[in-house]
Amino acid sequence: NNKEWQAAFTVIKQLENAGYEAVVVGGAVRDALLGRAVHDVDVATSAMPSEVKEIFAHTVDIGIQHGTVLVIVPESPVEVTTYRTDGEYTDHRRPEVVQFVRSLAEDLRRRDFTMNAIAMRRDGSLVDYYGGREDIEACVIRAVGEAQARFAEDALRMLRAARFAAQLSFTIEPATKQAMHEQAADIEWIAIERVKAELDKLWVGKAVYNGLLTLVESGLATYLPGKFEAEQWQGFSTKDAQIGWAYFAWLQGENWPEVLRSYRLSNKETSFIKAVLAAFEALQMGWTKMDYFTYSEAALVTALDFSKLQKLQVEVTQDGIREAQARLPIRTRNELVVNGLDLQNWSGQKRGPWLKEALQEMLEAVVAGEVENERQHIKDWFELQIFHKG
Ligand code: ATP
Ligand code: MG
Repeated sequence: NNKEWQAAFTVIKQLENAGYEAVVVGGAVRDALLGRAVHDVDVATSAMPSEVKEIFAHTVDIGIQHGTVLVIVPESPVEVTTYRTDGEYTDHRRPEVVQFVRSLAEDLRRRDFTMNAIAMRRDGSLVDYYGGREDIEACVIRAVGEAQARFAEDALRMLRAARFAAQLSFTIEPATKQAMHEQAADIEWIAIERVKAELDKLWVGKAVYNGLLTLVESGLATYLPGKFEAEQWQGFSTKDAQIGWAYFAWLQGENWPEVLRSYRLSNKETSFIKAVLAAFEALQMGWTKMDYFTYSEAALVTALDFSKLQKLQVEVTQDGIREAQARLPIRTRNELVVNGLDLQNWSGQKRGPWLKEALQEMLEAVVAGEVENERQHIKDWFELQIFHKG
């Protein structure tokens, strides 16, 4: 994103004019070298957070305890983080304290992987003490420094490695992989929300299978909730993390609700997944008009994709889904021209469990095209029903 780079360079220039050093660092440099789309262009600087705030008119404290200030310039907001080193780690995740420093070299040393430890100056030159560029060219994920020590500090890094393996289709350098294997169990220290956030990114990676293989081979999968069967993910690909979760859920079998609960998915995510799994099951028998009515296009398309992944024979196509939905007499329950009160009046009965059932039957009859969605038609149909049921 050009605007974000321009914004970052504007910020760097002003910091330099004030006598400080500043660079673009992390994911943006990595992705630029890879020719991938860049989303966040982060700046690191020798200026202390208070100094950053003095230089710019508009700033927002977004993580001042970690040295991060959001600087607002016309092009785009930029995250500016003071060079820092991390203090002692005691919980396998966060350092007890961070210390601000004036040296870029020290800041780069605390970063997780060589590909993420490259800085770019305003003139485009790279500061690359750990051979990150070479590793990017070789498509390798390598810990900065001693892998074992780096994963012992922060176990989340192991999961990040698997996520990057999925996103970039990189392999993990042997010593780094060995360290993951040795310390996989430490992943249990990581808050499940952080794990979920990494899996959200893993599912949408262009090489999900590679990511899953990494989880399984490193042993990380053993310590995460649910079953991870790499082979099942061959050929899987999506742009939507929810679809990854749905597929993961399906692979869990009956246990899926419990597994998803342990990842604390949102209600919205869970209800989408539920719909996909129900639609997938219904597909084995062939979708009825009621199925086309009940499930969203997205849920049906996803279920269809799953059946292809499982190499199941199905007649339906994506266009077929759209057409079948377009042909439905009604799209929502609200479009019915008759309601519960009408049924009560016509039958002369008080409300009760029968009413819900009758409404459902009426809905199904209308959706199936057995009755027109028209008052007199429905009334005739309803009276016939009562007659048959006695
Ligand atoms: P993404 O494309 O997903 O944003 P990213 O590499 O930019 O990937 P971020 O989480 O945005 O990842 O972190 C920015 C940078 O901060 C990383 O490139 C890396 O240098 C450093 N970093 C992030 N998390 C860690 C960590 N757990 N340990 C060490 N360094 C980290
Ligand atoms: Mg980033």
